[in-house]
Amino acid sequence: MSAPIDFEEVRWHALPGSEIARIFDVELAGLSPEEVNRQAARFGRNVLPRASRRNPLLRFLAQFNNTLIYVLLAGALAAALLDHLIDAVVIVAVVIVNAIIGYIQEGKAEQALEAIQQMIAPKASVIRGGVRQTIPVSGIVPGDLVLIEAGDRVPADLRLLHARRLLIDEALLTGESVAAEKHEAVLPEETVLADRQNMAFSGTLVAAGQANGIVVATGRHTQIGRISSLIQSVETMATPLLQQIDQFARRFTWFVLAGGLALFAFAVLVRSYDWVDALIAVVALAVGIVPEGLPAVITITLAIGVRRMAARNAVIRKLPAVETLGATSVICSDKTGTLTRNEMTARRIVTARYTMLAEGSGYVPEGHIRIAGPGDQTEALSASMPLIRCGLLCNDASLRNDGNDWRVEGDPMEGALFALAMKAAVDPEMERSEWQRLDEIPFDAAHRFMATLCRGPDGAMMLFVKGAPEAVFAMTAPDEISYWDQAITEAGSEGERVLAFGAKQMPSDAERISFDDMAGVALLGLVGFIDPPRLEAREAIAECLSAGIAVKMITGDHSATALAIARQLALADDPQVMTGVDIERLSDEDLEQVVNRVSVFARTSPEHKLRIVRALQAQGKIVAMTGDGVNDAPSLKQADVGVAMGIKGTEASKEAASMVLLDDNFASIVSAVREGRTVYDNIRKVISWEIPTNGGETLAVVLAILLGFSLPMSATQILWVNLILAATLGLVLAFEPTEPGAMQRHPRQRGAPLLSPFLLWRVVLVSVLFAAVTLGIFFHTLNQGRSLEVARTMVVNMFIVAEIFYLFNVRYLHTTSLTWRGAVGTPAVLIAIAILIVGQALFTYAPFMNALFNSRPLAFADLALLVFAGAALMVLLEVEKHVMRRLGWFKELND
Ligand code: ATP
Repeated sequence: MSAPIDFEEVRWHALPGSEIARIFDVELAGLSPEEVNRQAARFGRNVLPRASRRNPLLRFLAQFNNTLIYVLLAGALAAALLDHLIDAVVIVAVVIVNAIIGYIQEGKAEQALEAIQQMIAPKASVIRGGVRQTIPVSGIVPGDLVLIEAGDRVPADLRLLHARRLLIDEALLTGESVAAEKHEAVLPEETVLADRQNMAFSGTLVAAGQANGIVVATGRHTQIGRISSLIQSVETMATPLLQQIDQFARRFTWFVLAGGLALFAFAVLVRSYDWVDALIAVVALAVGIVPEGLPAVITITLAIGVRRMAARNAVIRKLPAVETLGATSVICSDKTGTLTRNEMTARRIVTARYTMLAEGSGYVPEGHIRIAGPGDQTEALSASMPLIRCGLLCNDASLRNDGNDWRVEGDPMEGALFALAMKAAVDPEMERSEWQRLDEIPFDAAHRFMATLCRGPDGAMMLFVKGAPEAVFAMTAPDEISYWDQAITEAGSEGERVLAFGAKQMPSDAERISFDDMAGVALLGLVGFIDPPRLEAREAIAECLSAGIAVKMITGDHSATALAIARQLALADDPQVMTGVDIERLSDEDLEQVVNRVSVFARTSPEHKLRIVRALQAQGKIVAMTGDGVNDAPSLKQADVGVAMGIKGTEASKEAASMVLLDDNFASIVSAVREGRTVYDNIRKVISWEIPTNGGETLAVVLAILLGFSLPMSATQILWVNLILAATLGLVLAFEPTEPGAMQRHPRQRGAPLLSPFLLWRVVLVSVLFAAVTLGIFFHTLNQGRSLEVARTMVVNMFIVAEIFYLFNVRYLHTTSLTWRGAVGTPAVLIAIAILIVGQALFTYAPFMNALFNSRPLAFADLALLVFAGAALMVLLEVEKHVMRRLGWFKELND
């Protein structure tokens, strides 16, 4: 057993890598599986202690912290003191049941969100057993050899062993906003934290460059772990819509309490009601009319939406995105990997004299390379060998054969070059070990090339470059530019991605390369790669177009390639293309004028993306934008919905995004938009069901007090109706599936009010109809000479029946509900109705309920009458929906 390590004491920055490996008793070249297990047993998982969850008891008590509940409890106390014991018990029971429902709902929503956050747990690249692997950050152990590159969050505290142009943003730790430059040299012991340039600290962000390093501390032993022992918990569940509704409910409470007070005074002073009865009735009514349960139901609706989106590979990081997604009017998407499969195969090799075509598909390194057109096959192949070798040595990827499939570790295009070398009978591992790499300039979307410095077996020192043709041509200035341009256009028009390759002999004592060394590189040729479009992306684009959502491709690739892929995907009838250079020539105002017409933006860099989002937003569009690189963060934040790639995206982009695609697939964005529309529809349904329900009840009781007839429901009966409805029908609309035609409507406008004119009209109409029907039943029963108790029991049941029918009407706001599909309902609807019926049967027929609520059993004919009245109400509202659509008064119905 090794001696314990005092993480605070060891001066890692003052030790060479070999010494650190000795301390941990591991190999510098990466851990073996046994070493990983041993280290994990010794040091534990690489996680920070979690913020503890709120105490369940406190969470339960918080349910009572509501003005209305206080009023209700005060009412119960008053009732108890005045000998209305049954009323007091019922009120308290209602309050407790309400709190239990709220507690369970909140817990479920929180759990769902937390589980989903786990799906995008961060990953890191390590070298273990000599092989590069991607593992969850929590599995990293001290002694591990970790690779970091631009856009990564450093996964643990590292002592750097090899750093190239590495810049790390350490603001989190030091507060310093300028990124720190890093290198691997040993530093004096006394160097302070902020100056330890050979260390990379857990949680800081790699702004540029590449490096590897050995892990010296994990979890709470890291610098960040020592400063703050807590990591951020799940984000709060507030969204603009929720806040709006919450605020509305609060204000409304005071309004209702004031109204209630006036009504109470009127009832006692003018109508001479018994003051205790009047008090309890008014309190019950107030509780009924304030939609205090609405925020909870909407939270659940959002949480269900989040869960459904996750099932379709779209993980929501910021809850407001769920609301915004449904309103998206433009989706700006990357090409590679999102619209295409990002499975590259090198197909075409162009050298100064020959064009060759490689057979085979995927990464399987089998297939002939044949000359296209006239010429000698052997000569053509040997002419392309320098290019093929350059592609292998200016390359960080490798291929792995796991049984029946070949997989890439690293960049897919580089994987394709690896396969190409094997097709040309080169042994990649041997070639790479013979050509020792001394230095490199990593690929960056800003300069669009990569370069390596390698020493060959005979001591020759070579610089290899590969990159976008424009970038490489700028170094090589080839003679016959028209020959090359024509080759690029030809490959591009077939949707191929083109890379150019170059090489240069360097002085034999060269150790480092810089941008200045790129001058005078000799052009070796071009390679065209095929990256097939995703079939599902084509269908998803068609769905977007029918839903009034424009799709724009924003790519770093060449315009010919981008346009060919756009055509294959049917992005637009006649897709217009614009390049980054064109964008730079335009002012912001001019860009706004053209941005709607263009559907392909090629050779763009991250700054262009930002300008495109802004231009679209200035046109009133709601923009969803994808991104994967470290520099995409600003445009992801600017977009209404920033979408990061789960597989190929950097940590920086995921953190800036409000949604992460687990499969990098464009079709998943469209599924999320569809779910977003469903969520918004469901929220509207919840509201348009709940508010008139409360309204009808209130209207009936207020009319009774104002006109001076007996209350159609007693106070406890009002509470019963509210409770049983909240626990059953009040929830089911949150589970509604997508309405047919949801993706044939136009997106809703930015800032469209939730309570649209149609919903407002509905609130008034339905409230009046409910009041009319229940009062009609009330007087009809009394006229038959039956008791007040029977009449009230009829009213309570009438309410419930009407609510059930109305629910079916609300389930389809945009089409008729009178269909087989509409009649059958969903499991949630059917279960809720079953519970409701059992509850009502107890209320009406169980002797103890008769005693508690003063209800009376009803005859079969009574029930038949209620169902008939409810059905009539539903037919009336269906006719109204139809007529309103015909009249076209409410635009939202006809969109
Ligand atoms: P998209 O933006 O749709 O994902 P993209 O992958 O082409 O497209 P970038 O990653 O910005 O966008 O790449 C821009 C260009 O840089 C590519 O078209 C290619 O010419 C070149 N390039 C990409 N990756 C490499 C690499 N590993 N080495 C050298 N050049 C590269």
